Amino acid sequence: MNLILLGAPGAGKGTQAEVISEHLHIPTISTGNIIREALKSGTELGQKAKSFMDSGALVPDEIVIEIIKERLTEDDCQNGFILDGFPRTIPQAEALDRMGVQIDRVIDIEVADDVIARRVSGRRVCLACGATYHLDYKKSKVEGVCDKCGDTLVQRKDDHPDTVKERLQVYHDQTEPLKSYYEAAGKLKIVYGQEEVKDTSALVLAALEG
Ligand code: AMP
Repeated sequence: MNLILLGAPGAGKGTQAEVISEHLHIPTISTGNIIREALKSGTELGQKAKSFMDSGALVPDEIVIEIIKERLTEDDCQNGFILDGFPRTIPQAEALDRMGVQIDRVIDIEVADDVIARRVSGRRVCLACGATYHLDYKKSKVEGVCDKCGDTLVQRKDDHPDTVKERLQVYHDQTEPLKSYYEAAGKLKIVYGQEEVKDTSALVLAALEG
């Protein structure tokens, strides 16, 4: 199954992607994680993306489209994949269509902006493996240490309150129109994010069935 997860930054896409990935045995492709990885290893892509990312803006379409084009040719995508954080603009969705990529379902996770602002401040990530945690909702076994790879957990630069405000604005302006795009294609399923992660996961898994 080829899936897209839509939703504002901090709506819990990454966490739900992990749940679906385990359930369906298909990989998650997160453009955000790929860019952060490139930043860490100091590649040209990382250099180009840094200023956009740090300010909460979107990285230019042509850069992320190229990333996705390459990533989707890898062997692990043959039986399906979950796109987390791509597409984020109408031109990105159109590029995906032009690549001939068939999308089976788009799951949009809806969470109100004020809830997101509160949630994002507690979010912690592992820069080594991309796993995400939360100080209240999804604690690591040992505080500040990644359960999966043992690296140190940090707060993303772009999770600081002012940047989050900017990212929410960018989401409403540029990414939210994708809901109508995929609704018109008959692919959109809306899931309302719940207080408990597991309750949202149950709704997400049900949305895959229906
Ligand atoms: P994320 O981890 O998905 O929240 O992405 C973090 C940041 O990476 C975003 O705020 C953008 O600067 C950049 N980014 C990730 N995916 C995309 C995309 N599809 N289009 C443009 N910028 C992206």
